[in-house]
Amino acid sequence: MNIAIDGPAGAGKSTIAKLAAKELGFLYVDTGAMYRAIALYLLRKKTPIDDEKALKEALEHIAISIKYEDKQQNVYLNGEDVTGSLREEAVGNMASVSSAKQPVRDKLLSLQRSLAEDNSVIMDGRDIGTNVLPNAELKIYLTASADVRAKRRYDELLSNGEKPDFEKIKADIIKRDEQDMNRKIAPLRQAEDAVYLDTSSLSIPEVVKQIVEWEKERA
Ligand code: C5P
Repeated sequence: MNIAIDGPAGAGKSTIAKLAAKELGFLYVDTGAMYRAIALYLLRKKTPIDDEKALKEALEHIAISIKYEDKQQNVYLNGEDVTGSLREEAVGNMASVSSAKQPVRDKLLSLQRSLAEDNSVIMDGRDIGTNVLPNAELKIYLTASADVRAKRRYDELLSNGEKPDFEKIKADIIKRDEQDMNRKIAPLRQAEDAVYLDTSSLSIPEVVKQIVEWEKERA
């Protein structure tokens, strides 16, 4: 039994999926974190990612593994727990660029599928319902307006003690949507059999409740 959640940056997928997974007793799998871990390596090594040979060579030196510690997904890059370094804007922006490359996607597909074969998962990302788990029993396309998504990210950074720039955050979000939706390989789009959920005017508990209800109706 698997649930696929796709949607644009900042739609609240990970927050929602984590809570719904807890309530349903599923494993939460954050595929964005896997793309971010590869992006972190490429940033650290300053890999010229448009150079196919250099990219493929870099990928040969990357081993991504996932461990669940205290029910929390931790991402290991060549044995190093990099979970705490993945949320930075630079890493997300690089992930959006590098994830458009076929060798990067090939590297992660089997890891993602095997997690869903071995467990009941709620997996979130961009191509889960369309590509990674086309047979997922429940598919959700979670979205919100760009303004709302930028405001949520802004508030999150503010509460972390940072001094965010709202316009810059919004511009980054729009650029990332553009890249993720318009790429040739595994673009972000709603699967035909996915339910559409706009969370612009919903609270987190309301969204979680809706998903848990859908799952219970289905089961
Ligand atoms: O969801 P998150 O913001 O962590 O994802 C970072 C980037 O990784 C996205 O902008 C997207 O380009 C890429 N990604 C992807 N496919 C997924 C998950 C994430 O291409 N399944």
